[in-house]
Amino acid sequence: MSKPRLLLHVCCAPDATVAFERLNSEFDAEGFFYNPNIHPEEEYLRRLNALEALSRVIDLPFTEGPYETGIWHAAVRGLEGEREGGRRCEECIRLRIRRTAEAAKDGGFDAFAAVFSVSPHKSPSLVDRIGGEAARDFGTTYLATDLKKKNGFKRSVELSRTYGIYRQDYCGCVYSRRSIRFDREKESGGS
Ligand code: SF4
Repeated sequence: MSKPRLLLHVCCAPDATVAFERLNSEFDAEGFFYNPNIHPEEEYLRRLNALEALSRVIDLPFTEGPYETGIWHAAVRGLEGEREGGRRCEECIRLRIRRTAEAAKDGGFDAFAAVFSVSPHKSPSLVDRIGGEAARDFGTTYLATDLKKKNGFKRSVELSRTYGIYRQDYCGCVYSRRSIRFDREKESGGS
């Protein structure tokens, strides 16, 4: 019997390693790289290339969604100053999950899921709530997965090393990039 088809939102290749390892036996998974939050474009291409490299190694097919940065900025307008993990992130995750739900419905997938929950900065309950709402709105099925469990983050670091794939040092958007640079300058005593 064929396995159910799962469309998996991938925010970055390192997080996809764990998701694929844990879900592959039960599902026929396909990645969906829809991340208009990533800034700058050079970094977007770097993460996309990392997923391309991973997909060749683990045989995970994937499609790329549109890099529509204007839509992302509109989604988080007014929330630019929020801390990481706050309302800006909620809207950012919502945009990406809803687009995945839509693609899952259009592509005839049995379900969709997201790999966000590998990150220590992402709340699985928030991701699951948004996923459940999107599934209802688009008439598809959301698969809840807490990939942080059983040392998921640690495992993603190990697998990234094993596969030799690029691992980013900030979440993705211009605000998270600024904040990490600010923290580094503070640590080094800069202004
Ligand atoms: S910090 Fe990450 S999740 Fe939050 S808005 Fe930026 S890219 Fe999106």
